Amino acid sequence: MTVRVRIAPSPTGDPHVGTAYMALFNLIFARHHGGKFILRIEDTDRTRSRPEYEQTIYEALRWSGLHWDEGPDIGGPFGPYRQSERFELYKKHAYDLLNQGKAYKCFCTPEILEEMRQVMAKQGGRQGYDRRCRNLSPEEIAKHEAAGEPFVIRLKVPLKGECVYEDAIKGRISVPWADVDDQVLLKSDGFPTYHLANVVDDHLMEITHVIRGDEWMSSTPKHIMLYDAFGWTPPTFMHMPLLLGKDGKKLSKRRNPTSIFYYRDSGYLQEAFINFLTLMGYSMPGDREVYSLDEIIKEFDYKRIGVSGAVFDVQKLDWLNQQYLIKNIPVDQLWNRIREWSFNDAFMKKLMPLCHSRIKTFGDFMDLCGFFFINHLHLHHTLFEVKGLTHDQVCFVLQAMIWHMDENENWNSDGVNNASRAVAEVFGLNHKKVIMPLLFASLMGKHQGPPLFDSAELLGKDRTRARLLKAIEFLGGISSKKMDHLKHGWNAKDCKSLIGAIEPAH
Ligand code: GLU
Repeated sequence: MTVRVRIAPSPTGDPHVGTAYMALFNLIFARHHGGKFILRIEDTDRTRSRPEYEQTIYEALRWSGLHWDEGPDIGGPFGPYRQSERFELYKKHAYDLLNQGKAYKCFCTPEILEEMRQVMAKQGGRQGYDRRCRNLSPEEIAKHEAAGEPFVIRLKVPLKGECVYEDAIKGRISVPWADVDDQVLLKSDGFPTYHLANVVDDHLMEITHVIRGDEWMSSTPKHIMLYDAFGWTPPTFMHMPLLLGKDGKKLSKRRNPTSIFYYRDSGYLQEAFINFLTLMGYSMPGDREVYSLDEIIKEFDYKRIGVSGAVFDVQKLDWLNQQYLIKNIPVDQLWNRIREWSFNDAFMKKLMPLCHSRIKTFGDFMDLCGFFFINHLHLHHTLFEVKGLTHDQVCFVLQAMIWHMDENENWNSDGVNNASRAVAEVFGLNHKKVIMPLLFASLMGKHQGPPLFDSAELLGKDRTRARLLKAIEFLGGISSKKMDHLKHGWNAKDCKSLIGAIEPAH
């Protein structure tokens, strides 16, 4: 048997460190066994998937040095590798199950489903779909169809017994079927769900081992049921420990920098980043911590993969990066490498117009622009003492900035400018005297500098975002209760009451 493994990212956001983590372990597994590592793009979510996010997945994985053997960009014998090019295939498979009586048409409208959800929530029992369309008579189905009602196709999940499978990492897993919903396979617009497309593709692409994060474990019984319904042998499942932040919670863009580009742009070395990610899920014999990709590929033993969550500790990454820097970069190469990183012509060409009329001597350059080349700004509380706002209120403003820019996905100069004006409006605060100083403080660690919005564009989305998060953390963060409050106000686009008695500063 040739080992064939895959990663199947959805191009719905910035390339996440979790994608590199999964790619890495799949690649190690494939190389160790002389097998193939496949990249499949799961773009079934038509509203959230974007071609530009697909490109950033390629770019981020290439920077990480993780190269795939088959994929949408390079082709291969099992293509196409982009799910949006395989829609007919999924439809055919859903209808095969329907015709065999293993799936059924469900005509429940979103309103009916919502009502059902509320009733079930009140009863406090099982949540999900109550299977009311599972046993419709042929006449009833014909009636719905004659009325032209849209329908989804749902899988008939067993009503009794247990789904039992052996996870190569987690061991024996059993889940009562009663806890598993009659999963939608095909949506009313004819598009497949993740579950259907994922299983059909893993089978047709002859995937032997599904190595993925353990957040997908709740989907696995549904997948096993699907393999069974199709009469296919399931692959071996290996669920990797989840990446956790230092707070012990799931690593999340809401609390941590999670974009691979953040680490690249902050000047980490690709080899150190990769070595660090292997430490997340694996322990080498003798608890060695510094080793090359080739070494772990050679010595790999899946039994050494951890079972529980792995803490993504940036201090550890810093330490490891320094080991690599000393070991792999001779001193006469160091300047070259730093120059390539951020003192390169392309970057400087963008930076020069921002500082041209703002320095008296060359000696002022670093004073003005040093924040572009720094990972840890020296923040001070006085920087955030603006017009009597409390630290909580400053945090609210900065958090709202992040939300606004995320919602509009526009982190260039105009995007940041517009977002800051919108935030000023929603909080009833003066843009120039309150919002701008807070942004200067968060992004540059001072109240004056090169033009704010152009600087944010040049810092880039990931570092801008990380600095806003860092400032919030520095000021004590936002409790979940206050976050709910804020979210509420933000959604209503009125946060004036959160600023309370404070005089709007004009
Ligand atoms: N499309 C899923 C993701 O975004 C794939 C999960 C899996 O590996 O099955 O990660």
